[in-house]
Amino acid sequence: MTVSKEVRRLWQLPENELYRLSAESCNLNYGNKVFLRGLIEFSNFCFRDCTYCGISIHNKNLYRYRLSENEIIDCCKNNYEQGFKTFVLQGGEDLSFTDDTFCSIIHGIKKATSGKAAVTLSLGNKPYSSLKKYREAGADRYLIRFETSDPEIFHQIKPNENFRDRLQTIDNLNKLGYESGTGFLIGLPGETENTVINNIALTVELNPHMVGIGPFIPHPETPLKNCNTGNTGIVKKATAILRILLPEINMPAATASSTADSNLRRELLEIGANVLMPNIGPNKNKINYQLYPGKSCINFSTDFADMQKAVNDAGKIISMNIGNSKIKDLENIKTKGAI
Ligand code: SAH
Repeated sequence: MTVSKEVRRLWQLPENELYRLSAESCNLNYGNKVFLRGLIEFSNFCFRDCTYCGISIHNKNLYRYRLSENEIIDCCKNNYEQGFKTFVLQGGEDLSFTDDTFCSIIHGIKKATSGKAAVTLSLGNKPYSSLKKYREAGADRYLIRFETSDPEIFHQIKPNENFRDRLQTIDNLNKLGYESGTGFLIGLPGETENTVINNIALTVELNPHMVGIGPFIPHPETPLKNCNTGNTGIVKKATAILRILLPEINMPAATASSTADSNLRRELLEIGANVLMPNIGPNKNKINYQLYPGKSCINFSTDFADMQKAVNDAGKIISMNIGNSKIKDLENIKTKGAI
């Protein structure tokens, strides 16, 4: 059966049956553990003109900030001492961070954590040569969502990016030995049920180690300000189908989901998500990393308490383990000749 047919078959299942299967699949692979990743939003400067994103050049009413190299490394060091073993550096596409700067930051984090913490990057679409440099500097994982599988919609929301290039990047990440992460938005204008089904099928075909999806939330300072927030029921359904089709991936319950619906984080953990990404950056900057309005994680303590509650309510426990993807573990075993 083709991937697309299998997605359609799962899409037709009664929801309670679908969620039972996805919860079972998550439990088989990750038990009741939820991995934590420390997220650092290092800059909200961005030269891109993505029509959905609140830190794109469309937003003229935003205080722009960037963290220094030392601030980023210190933040990882302090949080490593608190138990975090994975750091995700995400930012706007800020040209003042060169490849050399990123390599130096990666080296700095590895040194500050005795090489024991995983470094994940989410820097947008980068050429193969840059991805190779970051990998050689020690980066372990890279997140880049394709956002939508429909090339027409992609062109509307990212007028200056090339759809095929973005897909190629995901392939490049796999070739370079990263744990690759991708995913998409739910509820972009022009999207139909078919688009979501194709988004899921494309995700499966890209062979990622991690998948993050979330509802689109319109930002008032962007061209899409009058659109609706993505349907959270569809976020649930897509999460469940992805967990069934890609049982070994790491899958966060994204912050946008809990912003759109305060119960959604718990619900996603119950049906297949196994990762949370608390924002460990300086509190003063969080309000300005405005991908969308109403962001729920602008104070570490309250945000962390909310996450703990969602994990408890979902009947799970937090794990501070490095949380490698099971897919990668298997590949490692294979290359060592054990299987
Ligand atoms: N520039 C980087 C990082 C983008 S921010 C890149 O292109 O990969 C990370 C993710 O936030 C994006 O991939 C997008 O899916 C999500 N995002 C951006 N704006 C959003 C919005 N208005 N609502 C919900 N999610 C959004």
